Amino acid sequence: MDYRDSPAEAEFRARLRTWLADHDPGLPTSSTDDDYWAQQAEWHTALYDAGFFGLSWPGRYGGHDLPPVFDVILDQELAAAGAPPRPSLGYLVQGITTHGSDDIKDRFLPGLISGRERWCQGFSEPDAGSDLASLRTTASHDGDDYVINGHKIWTSYSDVADWCFLLARTDPDVPKHKGISAFAVPMHQPGIEQRPLRMINGITTEFGQVLFDGARVASENMIGAPGEGWRVAMTIVSHEREPGELGFVARYAKTVDDVEKEVRADPTTFRPDQLDEVAWAFVQAEMLRLHVCRRLSERLDGIQHGPGGSVDKLLMTWVEQTVGAAALAVSGPRAALDTEDVPLKVYLYSRAQSVMGGTSQVQKNIVASRVLGLPAP
Ligand SMILES: Cc1cc2nc3c(=O)[nH]c(=O)nc-3n(C[C@H](O)[C@H](O)[C@H](O)COP(=O)(O)OP(=O)(O)OC[C@H]3O[C@@H](n4cnc5c(N)ncnc54)[C@H](O)[C@@H]3O)c2cc1C
Repeated sequence: MDYRDSPAEAEFRARLRTWLADHDPGLPTSSTDDDYWAQQAEWHTALYDAGFFGLSWPGRYGGHDLPPVFDVILDQELAAAGAPPRPSLGYLVQGITTHGSDDIKDRFLPGLISGRERWCQGFSEPDAGSDLASLRTTASHDGDDYVINGHKIWTSYSDVADWCFLLARTDPDVPKHKGISAFAVPMHQPGIEQRPLRMINGITTEFGQVLFDGARVASENMIGAPGEGWRVAMTIVSHEREPGELGFVARYAKTVDDVEKEVRADPTTFRPDQLDEVAWAFVQAEMLRLHVCRRLSERLDGIQHGPGGSVDKLLMTWVEQTVGAAALAVSGPRAALDTEDVPLKVYLYSRAQSVMGGTSQVQKNIVASRVLGLPAP
């Protein structure tokens, strides 16, 4: 594998670097501040309008038909500039592209990719997280619509979403994995109640609970066939677990860079063990970047990673928590005294990485049974 830029990649990198010099919105790290979430939509559309978003997605829907290597370049340059990462929604794009009809793709992908329509993912419920197939939200056929009743939780960006990629039970009489369907549900309608959740690090706008009480969705908004919801969900979560899809590498690199700057400004005030933690976080973030390069390069060769995405999710969790620990180590006692301390918030958010998108224990089960072929637990 050749890591050097081709002429086209070098030209893209230079153009992006020039643009970033004037357009970095200087937002706080995404995991630490409500201000990031308040301005994320603006950042998304700015990247898109300048031609730097949706690089590897189909041109027909507003993407650029470029190889995924360009996503890596984007992540690298965002991190190097200290700019916010690209908004992560590739997994929803993959879900719609893989399972949606042409009408669904034409209707929903352009708005999702351009950022003009905001989406959330309504999968988890109070009693259905790891065991997602037990979900109890129902969608009952009624004329040309389905009527939705149920309770979703941990729904990221639900308060700003125009659409919810919803999983609901459409057939209670078949085995649980077979009775689920997926829908694009309009969020601005009666029968939907939002209840924001406050995170341990103080963020209040990232996610919430969503209660559906007689909300309606047109039958034509079903994504995939009736009963195909479980397969749709598995496509989405397998991509949700790939850091290449998420742009998180840039987020980690930005945090490491911030911590490194603080240490370099006055190295004598830090103990050797604190410096070791920063060095280890740098090595880990770089390891993940190279791993993502390799994964994306494999995709160029037509390799689909499927359950291998769980290995990526475990690596990503490992790196985020190492970076979070380094941030906290550098902050030292300051973090204990100040709940607004940014490294403390980075550390606290990193704890969520082993839960969101499927817990680490569940990823280990998947790696054991579906990658290594060990007996299912
Ligand atoms: C920051 C964040 C954002 C999120 N965003 C979204 C979102 O946008 N949309 C959405 O739908 N959901 C979202 N989630 C929810 C997330 O997908 C669930 O929290 C996750 O799947 C775990 O489900 P649970 O919380 O119900 O935990 P549970 O499934 O109740 O798990 C509790 C514990 O039991 C362990 N466990 C469960 N089953 C097994 C098993 N079979 N083997 C071994 N151990 C097991 C788990 O590992 C965990 O430690 C988000 C979560 C977080 C933290």
